[in-house]
Amino acid sequence: MATYFISDLHLTPQRTAVTQLFYDFLDMAALDAEAIYILGDLFEFWVGDDAVDVVGQTGVFSAIRRVTEQETPVFFMPGNRDFLAGSEFESSTGCRILTDPSRIELDGARVLLMHGDSMCTDDAAHQQFRALINDTAWRRDFLDLPVEKRIELALNARSQSALHTSMTSMDIMDVNQDAVQSEIAKHDVQCLIHGHTHRPGIHPVTVDGRRSTRIVLGDWNGQNSVLRYESGIFQLSARGLDFPPVHVITKTEES
Ligand code: MN
Repeated sequence: MATYFISDLHLTPQRTAVTQLFYDFLDMAALDAEAIYILGDLFEFWVGDDAVDVVGQTGVFSAIRRVTEQETPVFFMPGNRDFLAGSEFESSTGCRILTDPSRIELDGARVLLMHGDSMCTDDAAHQQFRALINDTAWRRDFLDLPVEKRIELALNARSQSALHTSMTSMDIMDVNQDAVQSEIAKHDVQCLIHGHTHRPGIHPVTVDGRRSTRIVLGDWNGQNSVLRYESGIFQLSARGLDFPPVHVITKTEES
């Protein structure tokens, strides 16, 4: 049995090919999955669970529901695009929502799951945006707006974000290494898995003399990146790139 990790699909009804790839992935993964983890930005934007019809994503709900109905657990950690996914999303899909960060255990290895954007501490504008969307009063006021208005604001935010991305250096938008070290130390993990940066990779990290590994998931805007775990081995795939299998040390091997 395998465990799958994906993120940054940025699904919209306009990009039908990517949505189809996601359905194909679910069909494939459902065959041998112990669990499927979606680590944020499944949707290009999400303006509230009550808008699922209007934004044309009921097909995605049904596809995930088919998997969870077969008793395969699907976990969803909201990203900076779909942070408004809530209890209706959970009940309609059968997914369980995870808080960011969440720690899991895989065969005795402790693994930290994050979307990743909270570690982009050099990007002041993004951290300001995070502070806003994590504010309960802001969320309540936003969800009180009519759906059409929410969509308009989300599309505005999306163009502003595209402009920001085009004008900000890659270094600033990447995760900050001190932030990575501090999360690994704080949660005492052998492995950190995150997405958000769309830069798939495997990075050894040493914290206080102890070895750990940071695995970055790629996007689905061409990379169709999937991380598969089975029996102590992680295999990262992203179109056009080759990654060696990664053996993550367990707590017992560490001591
Ligand atoms: Mn993101």
